[in-house]
Amino acid sequence: MIINSRMRACFGVKTQQLISRVFRHPVHPSAAVGWRLAQSRLLSAGESKPRPSMLKHLTFKIKATGPITVAEYMREVLTNPVTGYYVRNNMLGPDGDFITSPEISQIFGELLGVWILSEWMGAGRPKHLQLVELGPGKGSLASDILRVFSQLKSVLDGCSVSLHLVEVSPVLSGVQAQTLTGGSSVESSSEDDPVFRRGETSAGLPVFWYRCLEDVPAGFSIFIAHEFFDALPIHTFQRTPKGWREVLVDIDPDKQNRLRFVVSPSPTPASSALIQPEERRSHVEVCADGGVLVQQISQRIIEDGGAALIADYGHDGTKTDTFRGFKGHRLHDVLSSPGTADLTADVDFSFLRTMIGGGVACLGPVTQKMFLKNMGIDARMEVLLRNCSDGPTRMQLIRSYDMLMNPEKMGERFLFFSLLHHSRLAKPKKSEGMKLEDKRPAPLPVGGFTEISFS
Ligand code: SAH
Repeated sequence: MIINSRMRACFGVKTQQLISRVFRHPVHPSAAVGWRLAQSRLLSAGESKPRPSMLKHLTFKIKATGPITVAEYMREVLTNPVTGYYVRNNMLGPDGDFITSPEISQIFGELLGVWILSEWMGAGRPKHLQLVELGPGKGSLASDILRVFSQLKSVLDGCSVSLHLVEVSPVLSGVQAQTLTGGSSVESSSEDDPVFRRGETSAGLPVFWYRCLEDVPAGFSIFIAHEFFDALPIHTFQRTPKGWREVLVDIDPDKQNRLRFVVSPSPTPASSALIQPEERRSHVEVCADGGVLVQQISQRIIEDGGAALIADYGHDGTKTDTFRGFKGHRLHDVLSSPGTADLTADVDFSFLRTMIGGGVACLGPVTQKMFLKNMGIDARMEVLLRNCSDGPTRMQLIRSYDMLMNPEKMGERFLFFSLLHHSRLAKPKKSEGMKLEDKRPAPLPVGGFTEISFS
């Protein structure tokens, strides 16, 4: 979609009002402005020994059934219910394996909170708003968003808001519960209950935890996925003289307790189904799970209304080999000590767009720098700095801003992509009748994807 100057000019007076109301508030005392240091112990910190159980489990599997796909390897390593990396660890933060934007600065979540409210208003202020977050980490993003909601309580007057978290990790769901409900949540006693934990925020908003999106009830929803799609399993393929072949993970026959990559001698179901006929690259990564997930989200948006914001490092169908591991903030060999390091791959937004089809409108991807600038991060920084006289806190604020915005850091590596109900971008209907001129107003532009003017 091309955003024209008319849309820019009329960009949400309402959104601007929302932003300026949020911006009046100083640094939130409970939301650290720097890396949210020492909020909780990182269970994986200092753990350097490989977990033999994961390697053993994979070795047994490969011995029994032959080499496994990279997708199966990634799924097992990250989300195996017993030994998976995400299932057993709390890996986020300066002492863990990686750090994310919501952990770097409260401003990130605040601006996303404003985006959500602005989209809810753009959808005609439905009576119920389900905020659905996929992979909520420590719960910091949701907590910053909900703080904006409570600052703008009067805007949401008459709307019942609920929070729905999709999380594979029991360890992290406990951390999220502590952040969001102060530890007053309860776990379900039945394994079959789609809601495996439930609680209430101090403001009385209900919070529900699910293992997968299918379990989240239908209803108008805004979906947020920050650094979630990059953790979903990818298939990797290589172009060979005989055609496309899938890369597999096998036991290394020459080294004890080591795995290695091999290329499948013949086509696999994935190599036959997932490579686009017009593909030009020689190595390709395809996240089929990500494709299915965006289709599920689109279907929900079509049926119940709503929007989705997906933010991750990624590309538009141009990159080749991005599969990598992270341990202690350093790159880590993906096949070494499986289960002790994060595994990740850049999100291919062009593939997601192809999978979405035409049922919903897609915006972006745009860079994080552009999205946050358009959402008014500079004005928010000004207010925070104006209200802060403590030298170290000011330095921390400036450092965090640089981390989020600097093109060399997260500013251009992270991309924002949105799915919207088509009605959101359609011109509002005026009464029927004889008219010589079409003077219907343009739809409100979507925050973040176009500039907000603070005149
Ligand atoms: N969004 C957070 C955390 C990112 S880390 C942030 O930006 O700080 C990835 C998160 O997704 C973790 O909470 C992890 O446990 C969760 N996760 C990873 N794979 C998942 C899956 N297949 N299903 C549900 N949650 C998953």
